[in-house]
Amino acid sequence: MDAGLNDVLIVGAGPVGAVCALALMQQGVAAHVLEAQPEDARADSRTLALAHGSRLILDRLGVWERLQGVTPITRIHISQRDALGVARLAADELGVPALGYVLPYAELAAALKQALREAGIAVEYGVAVARIESAADAAIVHTADARTLGAPLVAVADGGRGNAVPIPRFERDYGQIAVVCDVETELPHANQAFERFTPDGPAALLPKGDRYAMVWSASNADAQRIAALPDDEFLATLQRHFGGRQGMFLQAGPRKTFPLRLAYTGSDTAGRVVRIGNAAQTLHPVAGQGFNIGLRDAWELASLCGDTPREALGSTAMLAAYARGRRDDVIGGLGFTDFLVCTFSNDFAPLRHARGLGLLALEAVPPLKIFVARRMMFGARG
Ligand SMILES: Cc1cc2nc3c(=O)[nH]c(=O)nc-3n(C[C@H](O)[C@H](O)[C@H](O)COP(=O)(O)OP(=O)(O)OC[C@H]3O[C@@H](n4cnc5c(N)ncnc54)[C@H](O)[C@@H]3O)c2cc1C
Repeated sequence: MDAGLNDVLIVGAGPVGAVCALALMQQGVAAHVLEAQPEDARADSRTLALAHGSRLILDRLGVWERLQGVTPITRIHISQRDALGVARLAADELGVPALGYVLPYAELAAALKQALREAGIAVEYGVAVARIESAADAAIVHTADARTLGAPLVAVADGGRGNAVPIPRFERDYGQIAVVCDVETELPHANQAFERFTPDGPAALLPKGDRYAMVWSASNADAQRIAALPDDEFLATLQRHFGGRQGMFLQAGPRKTFPLRLAYTGSDTAGRVVRIGNAAQTLHPVAGQGFNIGLRDAWELASLCGDTPREALGSTAMLAAYARGRRDDVIGGLGFTDFLVCTFSNDFAPLRHARGLGLLALEAVPPLKIFVARRMMFGARG
């Protein structure tokens, strides 16, 4: 073996792996991180929506104060196209400074990279993990450059993009693709986000700097066509799809697409390997749950490691406690997201009316509003 036995080996230094390493350090547990990308790789242009609970995690790790380009969401407007029913959520009604925050993935990635460096956490960049083998007292990681490293616990945070991704326990292909880009609207966003449900899929506008980040979910064929439209046709199509609440759509940045699916792989309770973040669950981006659940995975795993004697790290009992502790939050988030996509992505008249009533109830019944908003901000522990 090339390295001594570490406490925890983390595969992947994306946001979830990096947060896990920093949180483990706070718990006095040594982490060693392997990241396939080189250190100077440029993160892609995706935009992330952080829930208020995720801000609290980044605050505790001293990462929040490093972030520059963060836009708070103080109000959310939820509606459905061509049907009744609007619900509005406001941060001041809930006694929080913001319901969530929007920031570029690249900004968060850079801040986390710097925090890892300053904390002196061992991160090996440009090292891809090829496979992981479980032994009685350690899990052994084999790297693509033919090295082996061992640890009592290996946390896989590879975004589900590694070489040996297990078959998900539950999967749903929504037949939808997200078209994402930045857009400029005639009216200023005033920190308001929009979630608009349409029969083709949900569309969201998230305030980002002086623009909006748009996430437009459409059927596979439509999404590719929409993404390829020239700017003027794209803006006109978006205007018809979204309506005029923000005045005219004036400009759009380059469009990117990503396929949408639900995949729940979860984590095993044997083998000294735990999966966290997108490696454990991939969600539809509606209501911005997936990434935030991943950060809570990282935080909860680190807390549990801190409470576990070193000789029990990675034991079946510890992994079972982790799986038990995460179940409600993860299954709740998957169920909530799946319910929204399946209930709203159709034009069946009785369902349309029921959805309208649901939105009216959300608007008119304060305890329901508080329940939904807290669920979105903090997960099952809200
Ligand atoms: C194409 C795409 C676009 C997205 N767009 C949005 C969006 O617009 N808004 C939004 O909220 N969410 C979006 N998401 C989801 C969001 O990016 C994820 O929820 C979030 O990045 C999950 O973080 P993570 O750390 O679990 O995984 P990732 O961010 O995927 O990080 C995984 C890390 O592991 C590394 N890695 C992979 N394999 C190996 C290996 N074998 N060995 C070592 N390291 C490895 C990768 O290089 C990467 O750094 C998108 C996801 C994808 C795939």
